[in-house]
Parts: sequence; structure tokens; C-alpha cells
Amino acid sequence: MPRTTIARVDLDALRHNYTLACQRAGTARAMAVVKADGYGHGIREVARALADLAPKYAVACLEEALAIRDAGLNQPVVLLQGVHQAGDLAECQALTLEPVLHSDTQLAWLTESRHRPRFWLKVNTGMNRLGFRPGELDGVMARLADAGVLPGLLGFVTHLACADDPDSPMTARQTDTFVRATAPWPRLARSLGNSAAHFLPDQPLFDWSRPGIMLYGGSPLIDATGPALGLKPVMTLEAPLLNTRVVRAGESVGYGAGWVASQDGRMGMVAIGYGDGYPRHAGTDTPAAIGGRRIRLIGRVSMDMLAVDLTGVPEARPGDRVELWGPTVGVDEVAACAGTIAYELMTGLTARVPRQYLRRDGGVD
Ligand SMILES: *Cc1c(COP(=O)(O)O)cnc(C)c1O
Repeated sequence: MPRTTIARVDLDALRHNYTLACQRAGTARAMAVVKADGYGHGIREVARALADLAPKYAVACLEEALAIRDAGLNQPVVLLQGVHQAGDLAECQALTLEPVLHSDTQLAWLTESRHRPRFWLKVNTGMNRLGFRPGELDGVMARLADAGVLPGLLGFVTHLACADDPDSPMTARQTDTFVRATAPWPRLARSLGNSAAHFLPDQPLFDWSRPGIMLYGGSPLIDATGPALGLKPVMTLEAPLLNTRVVRAGESVGYGAGWVASQDGRMGMVAIGYGDGYPRHAGTDTPAAIGGRRIRLIGRVSMDMLAVDLTGVPEARPGDRVELWGPTVGVDEVAACAGTIAYELMTGLTARVPRQYLRRDGGVD
């Protein structure tokens, strides 16, 4: 019998969240962002579950796009980082992948290539990671036209630096910069918004939005939880109780002996640790749940297990399932306790944790 530490993935919840993204996107269409193995949920299963809803997918790199093709899906796939070598343009053309062109290096690869994929241009409106500055666009467009590749250009992409903070003035500045930079080419599509942008009042999303974290139920805003935004949690991370035991006042638990019981109580060990991707920085008082009741972690997270306080749950027995995050304990809450964001927890789950998929008929795969 395998260990029952598993991540259950509710594909109906994923579909619900994607549908919400479409509603919030208004007249924009939503490309489903499934990079980083579908934010840790399994790129093939996630992409398949959205196949009849999503007109386009977006991933970071070619390997991820190939996984989508491998799953038998034919929608266009945007490569958000474009290609990492000139030779990959052949596969882009052959497989209907749409690289985002963001640098002079990639521009040279495309203009010198005999392959003609459709592609996007990245505009740097202030994120300052990738892309051409607005003042460079005229020159870039001229080079594309000279090389005869302009007909393949689908449109412009930019990325917001502070969309998670509804009070930041940066988003309006970037939006304005994007509008002005792309105005000379009104026939081309525009794409600006990640998940957070779907929840900002009066935020234009233009032709294509790019929801990622919201599809998986994580909150894209710093001051909201996923459920508060109408999102359903997609992943439930569970592990079994290995034991229950008495802990006496004055005894410590785990590495470093940093947590010491102030009174007699009950505790249990849970079969999950940082070797599974559970964050080691989640300290004492990080929430978990058992039978729908909230409990708390005590002491340090180890590689293969962690300790929980069961003083308030005397009926807990070895083998009982502990929810680390899911419907009772939000992944955003656990992330906050570990000083990080839900993105990192979801994508950091390791291969040791099997993903189990809940089908629409209520069965499991
Ligand atoms: C990852 C990514 C997204 C999705 O962001 P979320 O915050 O997860 O919605 C959108 N656009 C780009 C360019 C990205 O890299």
C-alpha cells in the first residue's frame, strides 16, 4: 500500500475558476496559463480539463508546450518567454506555438529564420524584466517588415508589476504606457493582464487576458483570499496521521527542540514534510485540519513529517487524514504563515506526492 500522502485535484473547481476568469475578462478572451506543470497540478490533466473551454494556453517554455501537444490538444500555445534557441522556431511553426519575442537576440533569430511561426511582441511598460521599450517599437516593426515576417505578428504583450495591490498607481501607469505604445498598430491584438488584473475595478484587459493562479483557486490579490473572490480551491493536500501521542509539559518536539509544551496535551505526527514540498518555513501555529476541524502545527517541519497539536481533537486516530491545505485551510493562509505566496507552495510540491484527479462524475483517476 502506498503512503496516503496525496494532492487531490478537483478539475470541476478548475473549470469553475476558468469560467469566472472569462466572465471577469469581459470582451477579452482568456488564455489559460498552465506553466510550471499547471502550477503543480499536472499540466496534461489541467490542460485537458479546460480543453473545451479555453481557446489558447500559455506556458513559459517549449517543453511545457510539448506536454500539451503530448496530451493530444491542438489549441495554440503561447510561449511567454519565447524560444531559447533559433532552432526551436521550426517546432513553433509546425506545432502552432506562438513565441513571445522579447529581445534583440530573438528578433535576429526570427528575421534570419526560414520558419514563420505566428508570434507576439513583448513591450516593457515598467516591469523591466523582458521586452522592448515603447521607443524601440518603431525600429523593431521596421526590422520585422524588412524581413517579411510581420504578417506572423499577432499582437503585443506586456506584464504588470503591481497588479496584486489594488492601491498601486503603477498599474494605471503601465496600462497607459501600453495603450500609447501600441496605438500606431490598432489592428494588432493586445494582452496585458494576469489573474490580479481580472479583479481590479475598471481595468481594461484588451483582447486577451492571461489568468494563472486564479485558475487554481489561489488569490492573486494581497488583501483577499481565493474563496472571497469567488474562486474554488482546486488542490487538497492531505497526509495521514502516523501516530498520536501524549506530550508532557516541558517536553520539546522535533529538530532544534524549539517548541516546548507549556502543559500536558496530545500531539500527532503527519506523514508530509519539506521533501514533499510542504514549506519548512511554516512554523508553530500554521493551520491544518482534521475532519474539517482546524488544528495547528507545532515545532519544525522535517523532511518527511511534521507535528500537529491534537489537544482539541481527542478522537483523532493514526491513519486519519490531515488536510494541509484545501477547503478548510486556504493555501493562501499557509503561504502567509511560511512568508511566501500560494504560487510557490503549489509549484513547489514535489514528485513524491501523487496527484489524484476527481472526475466530473465524482470518480477518481
Ligand atoms: C505567469 C504569468 C501569468 C499568469 O500570472 P498569474 O499571476 O498566475 O495569473 C501571466 N502572464 C505572464 C507573462 C506570466 O509569466
